[in-house]
Amino acid sequence: DAGVRLPHLAKYAASIGLSGLEFAVGIPGTVGGGAVMNAGAHGSSISEITESVTVFDTTLWKVVTLTLDDLKFEYRRSAIDPDKHIVLSSRYRMKSDVAENIQARTKHNEEYRWKTQPLGWPNAGSTFKNPEPTRSAGFLLDQAGAKDLRIGNAGVSAIHANFVINLGGATSGEITSLLRSMQDIVHEKFDLRMHPEWKRLGKFTDEELKVWS
Ligand SMILES: Cc1cc2nc3c(=O)[nH]c(=O)nc-3n(C[C@H](O)[C@H](O)[C@H](O)COP(=O)(O)OP(=O)(O)OC[C@H]3O[C@@H](n4cnc5c(N)ncnc54)[C@H](O)[C@@H]3O)c2cc1C
Repeated sequence: DAGVRLPHLAKYAASIGLSGLEFAVGIPGTVGGGAVMNAGAHGSSISEITESVTVFDTTLWKVVTLTLDDLKFEYRRSAIDPDKHIVLSSRYRMKSDVAENIQARTKHNEEYRWKTQPLGWPNAGSTFKNPEPTRSAGFLLDQAGAKDLRIGNAGVSAIHANFVINLGGATSGEITSLLRSMQDIVHEKFDLRMHPEWKRLGKFTDEELKVWS
């Protein structure tokens, strides 16, 4: 069901010998949000296990099952439109394996995240999409020296350069300015434009909206 949390589902699937969701154990989202965003980690994503997604289509006013062709999964996006689709459930194709082995892989992924991401600080996950398959946003930001950036109470994590952390009371304006500085520093060094993975909520100035353009 759409409201089931991915980490919970990953652990449950592992416990009953179903493999395929090990990558999702650290993604703090739901089955519904995971389908919309084509959530992924550790080189895998929801699109790889999804067979279909059932939605309520508010324009047709009926329940519709979207096939892989309809879903048009891409990196961190899908054809599911939250303005007209309410995800009800997803159907996954999982593989059978020894539960202990799946649990070991799941645990490894969970521990890896705690080691490599600033999970002790308030953050919104990966800030920018990877602009290239071979060079991650974190790598580019790190190489460009982004780990030293801080604006007000918003700072780039020293553990992972693609994570912005709220050091206490950071404003939306401070965070958006920091994103702009991160984009600029990478553009200057690598001549690459990075696009936020985050969805924004609320009102932004025209200048701030350039971060998402
Ligand atoms: C600390 C942290 C780490 C993260 N790590 C990862 C990661 O490793 N990989 C990754 O891919 N993402 C990651 N994310 C981002 C986020 O967890 C994923 O994008 C996740 O898939 C979002 O799911 P959600 O249920 O929270 O959806 P939301 O973030 O609430 O919503 C995302 C979009 O989906 C829509 N939506 C949600 N549910 C439904 C529904 N039932 N029907 C229709 N539309 C819906 C919303 O309207 C919105 O447009 C991370 C976030 C944080 C904060």
